[in-house]
Amino acid sequence: MTNEASSTVVTEVACPFCGLACDDLSVDTAGEALAVVGGGCAKAQAGFARLGVSHDGASARVGGQPASLEAACAEVARRVKASAQPVFAGMALDVGGMREVMELADAAGGVVDHLYSEIGWRSTRVVQDVGYVTTTLAEVKNRADLIVLVGTDVVSKASRFFERYVWNDEAMFEPAPAARRIVYLGGGLNTAAGQSPDGRAADVFDFDRARMPEALSTLNALLAKQPVSEAAPLGIELARWQALVEALRAAKYSVLVWMAGDFEPAQVDLNINAIMSAVRALNVTTRSNGLGLGGADGELNASMVHAWQTGYPMRTSFASGIPLYDPVHNGTARLVEQGETDTVVWISALNDKTPPPPEAKVVIAPPTLKLEHEPEVFIPVSTPGVHHVGHFFRGDKGAALPLRALRATRLPSAAKVAAAITAQLKEVSA
Ligand code: SF4
Repeated sequence: MTNEASSTVVTEVACPFCGLACDDLSVDTAGEALAVVGGGCAKAQAGFARLGVSHDGASARVGGQPASLEAACAEVARRVKASAQPVFAGMALDVGGMREVMELADAAGGVVDHLYSEIGWRSTRVVQDVGYVTTTLAEVKNRADLIVLVGTDVVSKASRFFERYVWNDEAMFEPAPAARRIVYLGGGLNTAAGQSPDGRAADVFDFDRARMPEALSTLNALLAKQPVSEAAPLGIELARWQALVEALRAAKYSVLVWMAGDFEPAQVDLNINAIMSAVRALNVTTRSNGLGLGGADGELNASMVHAWQTGYPMRTSFASGIPLYDPVHNGTARLVEQGETDTVVWISALNDKTPPPPEAKVVIAPPTLKLEHEPEVFIPVSTPGVHHVGHFFRGDKGAALPLRALRATRLPSAAKVAAAITAQLKEVSA
């Protein structure tokens, strides 16, 4: 018999390692590293194992030498204060971390930029131009009868999508989830997860994904009952495209899924705009929705906090004392290339895999982050959902999940470090 009071396994843990934020994990806290023993996937297992140790021996460094947290924060404040235009980049943070970094950026008169903003601002542009008709993962799970994956397999980035939201045993409004039809638009994708539990293969439109705008134009032309002159657009017989259009029209609740990071960067807004055109056309006679999945590395945490604190999407500058939104001008890479910033502060509590740009003079990140160059200041921080509680917006924007504290550490949170730098900055300014 299990003694629950003495069990070292924590259940219903939310995972912060991709945008799905699965909240059904069981994590054993007994060992030196955290072990996922229920739910989860390879990425979650690796993330909890790698980050889920105490890291108590890790120390801040200034100029490559060990320094106290106070001294390191004071040095960051001094550098930020002296900078003509500091840039706060990375931003793989929970909600609380992002809130404090926004305070810091405001006090410093800096620019705020998430590591995925280069793609994200192009998605946002569609919302600004024509609006979105999108759904949530819960609606996919409970209603969808036809799911079209546009240029993505989802599972390469969010491996449990089909397990949790498509091939579920029961659904509230869809009587036979296992009978769902799955269509992939684009070649070179991992389509194995799209096979139904009873062995039905997914329908794959195999073409060069760089030609997605042509594929979506074909669909939209057929939806609009316009003539398509080619017998086989993108090498696929017109009759198959027509059959897909008929299936979309016949579906009770179709969902067109994309991950903006899987599109060619220059085509992101073009493709999403075309998906929205198809969704709008279908909604004249039936129900159809888009689902743009993202949210890895706190992308949604950053954009939600940024929006409610400034009224703008990501990539604003506080240099003039008020937030000024310019997603092209305020990109970190552009600011560095043009010599418009001399101080990049890389802040990333959730991601210890993506190396900061070489120009990052200050790095605030987990001690497991592999650095290609020693920055001028390094401050190790704890990870939300591993060492401390927090909140994490799921990639469909449908829910903010509470994160657990599973492993004690002496490392400060990114929020605490940002608040300490802000306090020092205000002291320097006084
Ligand atoms: S799919 Fe994503 S959120 Fe779910 S367990 Fe794996 S890494 Fe975590």
